[in-house]
Formats: sequence, structure tokens, C-alpha cells
Amino acid sequence: SFTTKASAQPLKNADELIDSVETFIFDCDGVIWKGDKLIDGVPETLDMLRSKGKRLVFVTNNSTKSRKQYGKKFETLGLNVSEEEIFASSFAAAAYLKSINFPTDKKVYVIGEDGILKELELAGFQYLGGPDDGGKKIELKPGFLMEHDKDVGAVVVGFDRHFNYYKVQYGTLCIRENLGCLFIATNRDAVTHLTDAQEWAGGGSMVGAICGSTQREPHVVGKPSTFMMDYLADKFGILKSQICMVGDRLDTDILFGQNGGCKTLLVLSGVTSLSMLQSPNNSIQPDFYTNKISDFLSLKAA
Ligand code: PLP
Ligand code: CA
Repeated sequence: SFTTKASAQPLKNADELIDSVETFIFDCDGVIWKGDKLIDGVPETLDMLRSKGKRLVFVTNNSTKSRKQYGKKFETLGLNVSEEEIFASSFAAAAYLKSINFPTDKKVYVIGEDGILKELELAGFQYLGGPDDGGKKIELKPGFLMEHDKDVGAVVVGFDRHFNYYKVQYGTLCIRENLGCLFIATNRDAVTHLTDAQEWAGGGSMVGAICGSTQREPHVVGKPSTFMMDYLADKFGILKSQICMVGDRLDTDILFGQNGGCKTLLVLSGVTSLSMLQSPNNSIQPDFYTNKISDFLSLKAA
């Protein structure tokens, strides 16, 4: 037998939700900002939650920046958020390697951008690869073989706007030929919204290429995997039932909250519309939905 989750309810009494939890986890793109633009009413809403003593945590699947770089972005947008409150999937990759005691005499091969490199460096891991790797035409003369480093013990794949065939081959050699080599994905988002004019291929496309060539499945550290939720709950000593996960995406954010046993709130300020939520094709139902987080300031009990 199976149970179906009740349909999401429109948020009517924000204070009741706020009083029922001690921590809010906010997704970033589509909740706090859209690209480089702050969403209406966010500073006032975060201030109100802080004044009520709520713990605020920010979780993003976008691995292109480190926590420090996100700290700067929050600051530029006029938001009072510290690096320690930010958990990007770039950081999650490094934190995961630490959590499994990945040996520091082994190396990490990175298919991804700067954020992952910065977090690996901070965590004390040796790495190679990154955005500038490869890119030149590979001359396939008879007998040519690509060398790879036998000390690579993990391949981390994230969103990479400089993705190329060299990187696919290098990562594949490490995973197939280095005994016990790990395959870690920061996230598997199918699409991302680099511009508001269309959907763009997301980090899942780079991960999918490596799945295709290795016939292996990655260990995902970003949403909706439970790694960051477990990490946060452990780090801050929070009960998951005392968390409300707020996000704009059903298959990453809301699933992340539900996988963690948290309360969930979908906001319609990002990629999900009310008709997508209510479509018969959608099986992921948050507890509540509302237009944007600043509704917290106006939705009071009648
Ligand atoms: N990955 C990339 C490359 C992105 O550009 C974005 C959003 O801008 C995301 C993932 C999703 O980020 P978030 O989890 O903050 O919505
Ligand atoms: Ca989002």
C-alpha cells in the first residue's frame, strides 16, 4: 500500500508556520534573488525572522561559487548574511570528502567552475582540472593514449560552462581505471535559468555525460540528496521537524525538505507556477505554497 501526500495548501497564517519551527532553510535562486536581482521584500523578511530568533540557513545547488563568493553576493545585494550560514553544493562536495576522511595524499579531479576549486583548497585537498582544463583539439594519431593521474581518488562534477571532450575522457579514465575512484556530483539540475528568456542546460547535463561514459551513478551531495540536511542538522544540533525548507523548485528543494522530514513551503517567485504545482503530472506536494517570502510580513491570522 502507499499513501499520497495531501495537496499543498495556500499559506494563510504565516505566524503559525514561523512559530512552529526554529530554523528556515532558504533556497537562493528564485527565493532570495533571481540571477543578480534581489526579490522584493527579502531584506525586511529576513530581518523580521532574525528578530524573532529564527536560525536562517541558505542552501544553493549552484556550485560555480564558493561560500566566500556567495558571502560577497549577499553583501552586494545589501543582505546581512555570513559565510557560515551559506551551504552551496561546491562546499558540500568538499564537506562530503571530509566526512568520509578522503585521504589528503589522494587527488580530486574537478569538472566544474571556480567555486569547487576554492572549497577543495580551503578543505586542504589536492585537486586538478577545473574550468581551464583541456579545450584544445585532441590529435588522435595512431597509438595515441591520454595519460591520467593514478592518484586521483575522486572525480567531482558540477556545472561547467567550459565543459569539453578532454574533460569527459580524463574523468572517465580516472573513474574506470583508478581502483575505488569516487564519482561525486554537486547537483543534477536538468535546467538552469542563466537568462530569463529560456531554460539552459543545467549541471545535470555534465553529470549525465560522465554517467554515460562510465555507466556509473554519482553520489549527489546537493539537493535533493540528504547529505546537506544531515550535515546542517548535525552542525547546528537542529531537529529536522524544527526546520522549514523554502524553495521554488519541486524536484530539488521541496524533495530535499521532504527527504529530510522537514516542513516545506514552495514559493512561486522562481521557476514553478501554480499550474505546475497543481498539474496531475506533479506528485511532489509541499505543505504550503505562497507567492514570495515577503508574504510572511502580510499573511496574518484573520
Ligand atoms: N546551478 C546553476 C548553474 C545555476 O545557475 C542555478 C541557479 O542560478 C542553480 C544551479 C540553482 O540554484 P538554487 O539551488 O539556488 O536555486
Ligand atoms: Ca531555486
